[in-house]
Amino acid sequence: MRRKLVVGNWKMHGNLNSNQILLESLIDGLKDYKNADYVVCVPNIYLFQARSLLENTNISWGGQNVNQHEQGAFTGAVAPHMLTDLGCSYVLLGHSERRVLFHETNLTAAARFDAALKAGLTPILCVGETLAEHEAGLTEVIVASQMDAVMATLDEQESAKAMQLNMAFAYEPVWAVGTGRSATPEQAQSVHAFIRNRIARRDAEAATHVRIIYGGSVKAQNAKELFAKPDVDGGLVGGASLNAEEFIEICRLAN
Ligand code: PEP
Repeated sequence: MRRKLVVGNWKMHGNLNSNQILLESLIDGLKDYKNADYVVCVPNIYLFQARSLLENTNISWGGQNVNQHEQGAFTGAVAPHMLTDLGCSYVLLGHSERRVLFHETNLTAAARFDAALKAGLTPILCVGETLAEHEAGLTEVIVASQMDAVMATLDEQESAKAMQLNMAFAYEPVWAVGTGRSATPEQAQSVHAFIRNRIARRDAEAATHVRIIYGGSVKAQNAKELFAKPDVDGGLVGGASLNAEEFIEICRLAN
């Protein structure tokens, strides 16, 4: 039985004051939910604040991206060890906003995945097709290429480490991210099953453990039906993670 995982992606939202109010509400609202894992991925500048408020609670925190380099002349970038220094356990990689708006590629996602693993961060690899790809019936082709770009670069030892760190996939159809238009539970289940089968081709045992979460306009209203699908192991939640009541309800539905 896989534990459900709910990850809030704050994107570029918040300030010291609003973060404190939101995090204090989450700490109180989630304190009795012991049957799932909860994470907030906050802007890097607020990781210190997240750590000081979330330490010793049942909520983990993580980064929304990370650079593949250890250190050096990479203005504006953050290295994996900097995230672990601030107590992060998770990091999102290959988010569609990084791919589309910042021109990140499968290659950068693969390099960052590798660097995150080496630093002991649990990577959450985001995959998903654009609307045009969806309409052209290319969902599985795109998802497979995004998965393979990362999985194919891992040797046996790295794969084992990824599994040991409980790496997760997030299926996020680009047409559903931030649009208010979620995939149906059936659409999500079909792609999640495809992802799990593809992992099983490499490692049948790992496929039973890897969590595959769904992202794309998850709300309290649709979370129950999505989470009820056998291969949907939780959610990656953007907009709704900024509203304490809404996010707590989504987390309750995963508990
Ligand atoms: C996301 O940021 O990964 C996301 C899924 O956003 P939203 O829930 O707002 O669609």
